[in-house]
Amino acid sequence: MSNDLDAMNELHWLIDMVQTIEVGLIVLDRNYNIQLWNGFMENHSGISPNSIKGKNLFTELPDIPADWLKQKMESVFLLKNRTFISWEQRPYVFKFKNYRPITGRADFMYQNITLLPLASLTGSITHISIIVYDVSDIAVNKLQLKAMNQQLEELSQTDGLTQLHNRRHWQECMEREFERFARYQDQASLIMIDIDNFKQINDKYGHPAGDKVIQHIAHLLKQSLRETDCAGRYGGEEFAIVLAKTGDTDALYFTERLRKKIEASEIICDNRIIKVTVSLGINEIKPNSDNSSVWLSGADKALYQAKQNGRNQSVVFTTQN
Ligand code: GH3
Ligand code: MG
Ligand code: MG
Repeated sequence: MSNDLDAMNELHWLIDMVQTIEVGLIVLDRNYNIQLWNGFMENHSGISPNSIKGKNLFTELPDIPADWLKQKMESVFLLKNRTFISWEQRPYVFKFKNYRPITGRADFMYQNITLLPLASLTGSITHISIIVYDVSDIAVNKLQLKAMNQQLEELSQTDGLTQLHNRRHWQECMEREFERFARYQDQASLIMIDIDNFKQINDKYGHPAGDKVIQHIAHLLKQSLRETDCAGRYGGEEFAIVLAKTGDTDALYFTERLRKKIEASEIICDNRIIKVTVSLGINEIKPNSDNSSVWLSGADKALYQAKQNGRNQSVVFTTQN
């Protein structure tokens, strides 16, 4: 008699706990009709256990991705194994609003879900349990960390003055482009740019004005680029670009247009008008280029030639340079 009472008490406690636990608990029969819907599910969906009991999960909650979830549940019935669905795979199955103050940034509750086969006394799987964990805090933290890491990575690759790639990152990008060419025999051109007589600009207008000139040229350069081009600040007043899928004839067209644009532009600093020109060296990848530093030094030699020839011009690298 006392054993029966103990068992009754235990059951009573269990039901109490199932109702109040901060985890969603649902039991479905083989036809996805709801047999159990605990307090957590009621609180977040606004649907009471009494009104939903015996009804089909997918007709009552049409927002659920039915085909996808049924497929998961069928395999649980079939294989008699539990299945886990992570928020990273799918942020949520039940579209619940997120009310937590800490995770105010998420509009909905991130969920981890366990699908658990429930065996009858005879051992056959007649029901399935869906366990819903609110993992909004974990998910938001992880997403924030990821966004911060991405920001940090971008910062570590970007030149502060111009927002172009910094030298190290540009170099990596250039080497990747070179490898790609080596594999697919694609065209690509490397361009080196150096501002003409920049020391005089600094001397005449001051270093901050010089910085403004560098920013101005970076701005015009960015305007001229395509998505696939890779531009960086190579040194103080030097820029380097890789033009993807571009031979030297088209690269020359590009540099001349940029050069003329820079020549025609004006930088206004402290009510004074500053005008600058640039020299540019171009080197197209040759099938016999053996490494990326040869590619780079070719463009550098062409730039040197442009300076020698009187500045404010583009020179294409040839073996005669
Ligand atoms: P050239 O036409 O031969 O290139 O003459 P140049 O005077 O431009 O000579 P060079 O390219 O060697 O000049 C580099 C100068 O750029 C030296 C340095 O004072 C200046 N410089 C380098 N980095 C910066 C920077 O970040 N800001 C400013 N304002 N000046 C810089
Ligand atoms: Mg220089
Ligand atoms: Mg210079």
